[in-house]
Amino acid sequence: MPYVRLAIKAARSNSNWDPECSVRDVGGDLSGAIETIGIEVKRGMFPFANACGQTLGYNVYVNRAYLADVRRTNFTANEIHIASHLGIGLIQLRDRTCIERISSPFYHPIENLNLRLLEAMALGRCQLCASFFQIGSGDKRFSKLTREDMRRAISAEKYVMFWNREVAERKRKLGLRVPKDGRTYERRFICPDCVESVWSKFALYEESGQQK
Ligand SMILES: [Zn+2]
Repeated sequence: MPYVRLAIKAARSNSNWDPECSVRDVGGDLSGAIETIGIEVKRGMFPFANACGQTLGYNVYVNRAYLADVRRTNFTANEIHIASHLGIGLIQLRDRTCIERISSPFYHPIENLNLRLLEAMALGRCQLCASFFQIGSGDKRFSKLTREDMRRAISAEKYVMFWNREVAERKRKLGLRVPKDGRTYERRFICPDCVESVWSKFALYEESGQQK
């Protein structure tokens, strides 16, 4: 599973103390639903209860929270009891392998925080089909998107980002979100499949109409 690979990667690198994240498809044929998995990776020398508490805090961002720790032997019965009581998963890292000792329960994270985390990983949710797709690469988070340019999206095989200005205006009036620079940050995305399968058909329809 991808989160296990990420746990190994983190354990080998110098970023051991940073949480790692991954996603996996859980929607089957009828949905684009995914699960977000957060992993706190330790090297076996950090106080266990503190690490558990830190891991549990990720459940405002992710659907499943794991603590991965370097261990020659399995977690102790007491540690497993603590993790189970708190509601986090445990992964043992040993000889470049990962062993899932306890599965994490499923959490419903705060949607705002979850979507912002996914966006930081260059993943966006399509407003039409609700699937998640890659919106950028590397340091360029939005590089695969056009800004409200549907024709360019179709011709250059880009995806679309647009702004929901009416929602932004309502939030501004209510004082819920008042950007200091006056810009609109209510951004939404359309995925490549919907550009190709739905929106490009509208463009063809419009072009054929113009020819008449
Ligand atoms: Zn879509």
